[in-house]
Amino acid sequence: MNPGTTISEDSMTAVETATSRTESLLAQTEQHVAHNYHPLDVIVAEASGATVTDVEGRSYLDFLAGYSATNFGHCHPALIAAAEEQLRRVTLTSRAFHNDQLGPFAAELAALVGKEMVLPMNTGAEAVETAVKVARKWGYQVKGVPDGKAEIIVAAGNFHGRTTTIISFSDDETARAGFGPYTPGFVTVPYGDLAALARAVTPNTVAVLLEPIQGEAGVLIPPAGYLAGVRELTRQAQVLFLADEIQSGLGRTGRTLACEHENVVPDVYLLGKALGGGIVPVSAVVADRDVLGVLQPGQHGSTFGGNPLASAVGRAVVGLLQTGEYQQRAARLGDQLRAGLDQLLGHGVVAVRSRGLWAGIDIDPELATGREICTRLARYGVLAKDTHGSTLRFAPAIVIGEKQLQFGVDQLARVLVDLRRG
Ligand SMILES: *Cc1c(COP(=O)(O)O)cnc(C)c1O
Repeated sequence: MNPGTTISEDSMTAVETATSRTESLLAQTEQHVAHNYHPLDVIVAEASGATVTDVEGRSYLDFLAGYSATNFGHCHPALIAAAEEQLRRVTLTSRAFHNDQLGPFAAELAALVGKEMVLPMNTGAEAVETAVKVARKWGYQVKGVPDGKAEIIVAAGNFHGRTTTIISFSDDETARAGFGPYTPGFVTVPYGDLAALARAVTPNTVAVLLEPIQGEAGVLIPPAGYLAGVRELTRQAQVLFLADEIQSGLGRTGRTLACEHENVVPDVYLLGKALGGGIVPVSAVVADRDVLGVLQPGQHGSTFGGNPLASAVGRAVVGLLQTGEYQQRAARLGDQLRAGLDQLLGHGVVAVRSRGLWAGIDIDPELATGREICTRLARYGVLAKDTHGSTLRFAPAIVIGEKQLQFGVDQLARVLVDLRRG
């Protein structure tokens, strides 16, 4: 693989044909796909491992990895094999009937994270919605909260998805404005502030919903002891601790779960993204029987949730994580990434936050927006995504090679030099 290679043939005709292919696809997309995203002008046609190739034959290093949905790399052979094998057997039964993959998937996933039961869904937002329902039901049934009074505490700056209820407790005006009326029952407190959280708890509080590291907010890591404090406080107040590990979980931070960095065991894990290996959407709410057991037939469901194809891929993902190899690799490569990024501090980078192979990089806003940096990085063969303002997020696949990782950091250095030269 040769990241940053431009066009393989240098004949002018080939270049022009290739360019017009990108342009016509961009125009078609612009015209027929709703404008709910603002992608970079690169049209991916193929991908493998940490690399993607566009319709012009140019390859790029993928430093976003599908917002951590492709933690194990594009087209991981073990995951593709599991999917292919299951594709030929049975792909969908609906939950009206059992299938022979769901039970094993649930048992293996629950064992991986140390819980008893799994509620399978498809997307991350659905897992969050599911957890909100389960927590409310648990509050009424187990805690004895008066009907309709359940409160869930969330953190400022959160990102849990974009459905109607979830945006109701978002403070991102772009995601929220114009989509009311909003679902009530949520209380927002500053992220990382244990005292504020303690003040917000009432007898009607059923859950605290948090990302152990806020991804979309810019890979914000809460102060040491915060998650442990949340655990202690919620235990004492008989409140469920729901950890949204949809982006932070499954190897990304160098552990199976980001909560492990603080030796914290929440009541409920929300998983998604990498759980589907980048092949199919798979999400899950994972908890003990005393929590998930509150649901009875008909109270929640999904036609596709727990389907045999998703379950087979999910099992293969769990299989990769059982070895511990990916977690170790993410930790080791994370140290390399961090060392490389730290060298850019004072050279256009004003702050770096990272855990494992997941970094938030604040660029000097005088220099450029995150978007401008990403556009320039793409020209140098690296695809990355900005979050807010001048913050970049680097989260390459865990299978990335050391040289590839260094290449990515070097391209950021190059872009910063270009910008500082003006
Ligand atoms: C991506 C994400 C979600 C939503 O997942 P979708 O699959 O996009 O619905 C929820 N929570 C967190 C922390 C996420 O990163």
